[in-house]
Amino acid sequence: MLKKVGVVVLSAGFLFTIAWLPGWVGSGQPSEPGNDNENQKVKNIIYMIPDGFNADYATNYRLYKEEDVVWDEHMKGMYTTHSADSSITDSAAAGTAMATGYKTNNGVIGLDPEERELETILEASQESGMAAGLVATSTITHATPASFASHVKDRNNETAIAPQLLENEVDVLLGGGKNNFLPGSEGGNQESNHLIDQASDQNYAFVETRDALQDAEIDIEAGEKLLGLFADDALAPEMHRDETKEPSLADMTESAIGSLEEGEDGFFLMVEGSQIDWAGHANDAAWAMQDIAAFEAAVEEAIAFAEEDRETLVVVGGDHETGGMTVGMGENPEMNVDPSVLKNVTATGDHMASALNSDRSNINEVIGTYTDFELSESEIQTIRNADDAASAFNQVISDRASIGWTSTNHTGVNIPVYAYGPQAADFTGHLDNTDLPKIMAEVLGVELGG
Ligand SMILES: [Zn+2]
Repeated sequence: MLKKVGVVVLSAGFLFTIAWLPGWVGSGQPSEPGNDNENQKVKNIIYMIPDGFNADYATNYRLYKEEDVVWDEHMKGMYTTHSADSSITDSAAAGTAMATGYKTNNGVIGLDPEERELETILEASQESGMAAGLVATSTITHATPASFASHVKDRNNETAIAPQLLENEVDVLLGGGKNNFLPGSEGGNQESNHLIDQASDQNYAFVETRDALQDAEIDIEAGEKLLGLFADDALAPEMHRDETKEPSLADMTESAIGSLEEGEDGFFLMVEGSQIDWAGHANDAAWAMQDIAAFEAAVEEAIAFAEEDRETLVVVGGDHETGGMTVGMGENPEMNVDPSVLKNVTATGDHMASALNSDRSNINEVIGTYTDFELSESEIQTIRNADDAASAFNQVISDRASIGWTSTNHTGVNIPVYAYGPQAADFTGHLDNTDLPKIMAEVLGVELGG
């Protein structure tokens, strides 16, 4: 027994010595993920926010995918998310905390509870000469992206947020919400400002489709910028994106990195998987899983770039949980969950509800069109009699996967943080959401002011 222990200790010591010999890491031998360039300097940061995502989403998604998930090996810690005035945060206060390092009240963007302006990590990065970008599948003026480059009392005031994103000269802006940049005379929400014209005066190239984004080339060093607004309002949910000319989140992430990496002094890029949260509010498990898959594809783009570049830190963390999602639900005597059945669901609950005829006599047809489930008589009755047919579809479909929901709003649980690249270990342990931008400022060597 003793002898055996001795052998184990000896081998571990031997391996440890070998691992530290010069050339071991550079020789292409396997090393701990993210650790081989752990001590290098950080030139670029890609901050990726899956809105509404927590450990339960992570677990259900792993079971859904039935394969390794890109972020699992980069798990570092967890953080608290409460806002200044509530134990449950909204996306504005969460975004502000994650962008500025300060707590504020729910609904507030980039201001403290006394309405003093807070500097964001994006602004501090720009101050030090770095390029900056924001990418989202919501309107680009929605709470999370807005928190990085605007300052308003009310998150719903998206027409006040839009001009601030341009005044801040964010080099790359990609998402939805064209209406918030157009005047009423052109069907937009601005009173009279034509912000797309203004953007072109500011040297922004403007694109509106996936193809145009692919062809867009800007010279960051020459002061050229990129504004991509691919829908009047939010982009389509991932499962309906193919019916549009809108890019995927991975397409936008790839384009943003491609433009920003030409800057000599590094870049800060925030990428939001905006609609995971909306799926959570709707308790739509299939929409949630498929939008997480789209977000994962974007994280893969970021990590592939960081692996090559070696001076890029990628940080992934949600702003709060939405829906009180659980892994398993009800009495469940077999203790079984099977989220992978959601792969064959091709529409949101909302979309299925809109396909119902007025007496709801075509429930079986709708389910047959968009899923491979056969409904029981009681499930059909549930949908037929529901006040809200979309919710009923979502409940029936979530039940098939044994994904439970306890809320249609946000919850207050801790959120996991994942990090890859130089200084990734700084995100280890039990943190608060305000710690994230503070750590980023520290590793970038920039001053995050008040
Ligand atoms: Zn949120």
